[in-house]
Amino acid sequence: MSAQKVLNLIQEHNIEFVDFRFVDLAGRAHHITLPATEVDADTFVNGVAFDGSSIVGFRGIEESDMVMMPDAETAYVDPFTAHATLIVMSNIHTPDGDRYERDPRSIAHKAEEYLQKSGVGTDAFFAPESEFFIFDDVRYESTMNSSSFFVDSEEASWNTNRKEEGGNLGFKIRTKGGYVPVAPVDAQQDIRSEMVRLMQETGLRVERHHHEVATAGQAEINFRFDTLTKTADNLMKYKYIIHNVARQYGKVATFMPKPLFGDNGSGMHVHTSIFNGDTPLFYEKGAYANLSQMALNFIGGILYHAPALIAITNPSTNSFKRLVPGYEAPVNLVYSKGNRSAAVRIPVAAVTPKGCRVEFRTPDSTANPYLAFAAMLMAGLDGIKRKLDPEALGYGPFDKNIYELSDDEKKEIRSVPGTLDEALDALEADSDFLTEGGVFTKEFIDNYVGVKRAEAKAVAIRIHPHEYGLYFDC
Ligand code: GLU
Ligand code: MG
Ligand code: MG
Repeated sequence: MSAQKVLNLIQEHNIEFVDFRFVDLAGRAHHITLPATEVDADTFVNGVAFDGSSIVGFRGIEESDMVMMPDAETAYVDPFTAHATLIVMSNIHTPDGDRYERDPRSIAHKAEEYLQKSGVGTDAFFAPESEFFIFDDVRYESTMNSSSFFVDSEEASWNTNRKEEGGNLGFKIRTKGGYVPVAPVDAQQDIRSEMVRLMQETGLRVERHHHEVATAGQAEINFRFDTLTKTADNLMKYKYIIHNVARQYGKVATFMPKPLFGDNGSGMHVHTSIFNGDTPLFYEKGAYANLSQMALNFIGGILYHAPALIAITNPSTNSFKRLVPGYEAPVNLVYSKGNRSAAVRIPVAAVTPKGCRVEFRTPDSTANPYLAFAAMLMAGLDGIKRKLDPEALGYGPFDKNIYELSDDEKKEIRSVPGTLDEALDALEADSDFLTEGGVFTKEFIDNYVGVKRAEAKAVAIRIHPHEYGLYFDC
């Protein structure tokens, strides 16, 4: 879509404002809005200036002038504003006109170019399953007791969310009992349907929505796969719509990986495959899970680099509270068809050659999708280049329920890092696969590690409520 097409959209939809957006290091969108009367062909040449020094993880105060260069392809009408507004995602440039190397979209684009130059294939497709919770918004619901955030499912009496003692559970969902019950147990069908309606209206192809396993309104909406940067753009739209529809209903949506102790957390499983033009490259009929040698090597790369990769796909201190046994979140660095405790699963039900794909189950939605998908692609391509065989490297295939193995059997299996700091240590020790071809730069990784170490420290030095139970009466 050219700039002219955006100018036509402004006419067609009587657009009053154009909202230029960029994405920060953490994957949050930021915006500057121009009256549509101020937008013309020059806006697409000169861009829209902003102060990069006010964005965490971007430039220092001495080099603050940055420019958003709109990507006309991404334009859609904002379904929430009172005044007709067109949203346009932008790339970040320096004042010299170069792409800014810390712009997540720039890294996503470079990863796609790297794939094409590698000769492996033309396109990598991505489909995230980004789970979330819809909670009552404390600003609207003053009766909500904040201690419900510290619920322990094993000690139901702690659960202050339930207002009645005793037998009357009404239609409340039990812990881990939320998978697809109909209304009135599922009280959020209408809110999810409204989210889907607006996603469709703004151009996302949505495939399904449902209540997820956890109590208290855990949800999942699935939209169709696309290429790397487009899928990351789609995920930004997905989150924007979910947050704002929840707000319209007086609720709040969160993608935090583990908001409730003792119940399932929210993952962002990512499905990936590589094509050469129309030809799928991950399928080989009759092989294990119908996976081609290329797909196996891709898995080898993901699992081999997983400890470092996880610093990008699971980049919050809270991420590691989800990656514990017993909640369908993966803890084991193995691959398997079907097994949900494996970091890499190969969905086999009703899969066609074109649908044959690898599901990396570790990521969560605190990941910046541009960086996470780019890093996954780089890990997988390194596996293809170095012919990393996941079986020879001891990553499976593993089709038993790993949660139920004996301790001796478990010793054979490597685990995901236990904390954000451990993942950052792994990233510092293993980042060459990311800097290959200049996709991520060393400077980017050093800066990223610095920002994330500061977050981990800020959490570690604070007093945790559970410490009172353990130590107060010592
Ligand atoms: N909520 C689970 C997780 O944390 C996944 C459930 C599922 O398999 O959809 O990854
Ligand atoms: Mg799910
Ligand atoms: Mg899944």
